[in-house]
Amino acid sequence: MEETKDMCAMAHPENDPQFAGLNVNAGVSKPPIVNPYLKPRKRQALPNAADLVEGILKGDVTRLAKAVTLVESVAPAHQAIAHEVIEKCLPHSGNSRRIGITGVPGAGKSTSIDVFGLHVLKNGGKLAVLAIDPSSERSKGSILGDKTRMEKLSLHPSAFIRPSPSAGSLGGVARKTRETIILCEAAGYDNIFVETVGVGQSETAVHSMVDFFLLIQLAGTGDELQGIKRGIMEMADGIVINKADGDNIDRARLAQAQFRSALHLFPTPPSGWTPEVLCYSGYFEIGIAEVWDMIDRYFAFVKENGYFEKRRHEQARYWMYETIDAELRRRFYDDPDRAARIATCERLVLSNRLSPFAAAYELLDKTNN
Ligand code: GDP
Repeated sequence: MEETKDMCAMAHPENDPQFAGLNVNAGVSKPPIVNPYLKPRKRQALPNAADLVEGILKGDVTRLAKAVTLVESVAPAHQAIAHEVIEKCLPHSGNSRRIGITGVPGAGKSTSIDVFGLHVLKNGGKLAVLAIDPSSERSKGSILGDKTRMEKLSLHPSAFIRPSPSAGSLGGVARKTRETIILCEAAGYDNIFVETVGVGQSETAVHSMVDFFLLIQLAGTGDELQGIKRGIMEMADGIVINKADGDNIDRARLAQAQFRSALHLFPTPPSGWTPEVLCYSGYFEIGIAEVWDMIDRYFAFVKENGYFEKRRHEQARYWMYETIDAELRRRFYDDPDRAARIATCERLVLSNRLSPFAAAYELLDKTNN
């Protein structure tokens, strides 16, 4: 018994009577917080703009991807380099067909982009697939443009697939995609697809940066025209009904007829081009050549009548003002002095001591930016 007690004391020295509860016992020495064996990682030097531009103009995908990452970054140092790269790439951009592709989730966008992309690349050239998905912040930018979703295309050496920039507002995400188009064009990508989920405002953003806007629709839901915002249909240069295969063919044809008659009710678009409605199957690769033939004919048509140039000019103007608006707002709100004054004004407004309008003018008039 005595022996057992001794053993306990040895195994658990803290139970020895000499260590009364209030004694301060000698502890062990505290290990260093930082692992002494860990070699400090060298901070990566900022990329050099001239080197990136040189790589991009040679079509080097690694440096293109690096530049796109800078475009997407919010760090001011990255932004400064990105702006320099964009400015230097600008004279080499513009020489591509920019095609927007939209449709509700499940419409078959990624399946279709996979086959459309391979179809386009049959004639040579290079294809970049970009995406605008403002909701992608939640999923770290993986909803659209995810490589695994375009299995064949992602293995093609002439395809560059980039998921949606994930940070910020729709306007911010769209602006980054628009800047990425410039870099891709400078790198020799002569076909650019911009994909977006057809559920909200992002179509307008895509429309403001593409030459042709393709709306992918589904048949067989009963009343096909329901749920499609009139504005989105009006923006479309072509409507294609996917999954026209198996026993879905008749429903697809019916939807085609319904879309055609609905389009008759719209005024002729400014391009002068009457949007066409076609059926196809992305999965079974039926009707792909016909869809692409329509897009070829559209480009021939708008290049001939001058609308191609006109639309690009309008888009450039739109992005200039968009950027001014965003930058003004950013400079206004990012100023820490002003943040304090805004808080004061807000309090005065809420206690009825200042009108909201007077507060706004007061804050704006004292703006130095
Ligand atoms: P996304 O969400 O618009 O990108 O749509 P997906 O391309 O991921 O397609 C959604 C589902 O529809 C997948 O299960 C596809 O296999 C299927 N799908 C896509 N295209 C077709 C098609 O042409 N025919 C049929 N039957 N199914 C298709």
